[in-house]
Amino acid sequence: MLTIGLLGGMSWESTAEYYRLANVLVRERLGGLHSAKLVLHSVDFAEIERMQVEGRWDDAGRALAGAAASVQAGGADFLLICTNTMHKVYDQVQAAVDIPVIHLGDTTAAAIRAAGITTVGLLGTGFTMDQPFYRERLESHGLKVLVPSVEDRATVHRIIYDELCVGVVRDESRRAYQDVIAKFDGAEGVILGCTEIELLISQADVPLPVFPTTRLHVEAAVDRAIQTKTGNN
Ligand code: GLU
Repeated sequence: MLTIGLLGGMSWESTAEYYRLANVLVRERLGGLHSAKLVLHSVDFAEIERMQVEGRWDDAGRALAGAAASVQAGGADFLLICTNTMHKVYDQVQAAVDIPVIHLGDTTAAAIRAAGITTVGLLGTGFTMDQPFYRERLESHGLKVLVPSVEDRATVHRIIYDELCVGVVRDESRRAYQDVIAKFDGAEGVILGCTEIELLISQADVPLPVFPTTRLHVEAAVDRAIQTKTGNN
């Protein structure tokens, strides 16, 4: 089994889900006492969030590049950046390591295409919904990406940072997300494009197919870790 590298803490509420899901999936596939081989570097999210708000993306990229190098040094065979938003600095992170960094936009797009869907609504942080870095990655896979209105984007963003990233899950916020999703005109599916959103809503809450980015990212990682056998599974 290969060793999965996680660059997490953004927020730790969703990184805990990465860790849990990776272990659940390895146990499901290999049985018994098998668990995921993992190296995790978890940052202080308050420091990263300040850089986001101040637009200091180069500083954030440098911080994550250094963290990624430590994950590689710890023995990881490949790396996941456990946040959609920080894929804004994906190139800086990938340039800092020799191991592959599995892009969350690619794993998400692959699942959407496999479902036969081309037009999707995107929920995420303001950075992810407003800026081109994430949408363009999805569009490079032939997808058409819809985003909510300016007001709805602000609501979705606020709930992520004020509630989900600090472990608060409210029925009222679930309803707010359902209202935003209902307004997507022509969407055949919805990307839960922030790693905390699947802590709030699941497929049962939404009539359209949902694409939970954390789960999809972890599934891709476990596939890679297990299918590439090294003889010491
Ligand atoms: N985890 C979130 C995401 O997937 C938001 C936190 C962050 O800004 O990294 O985008």
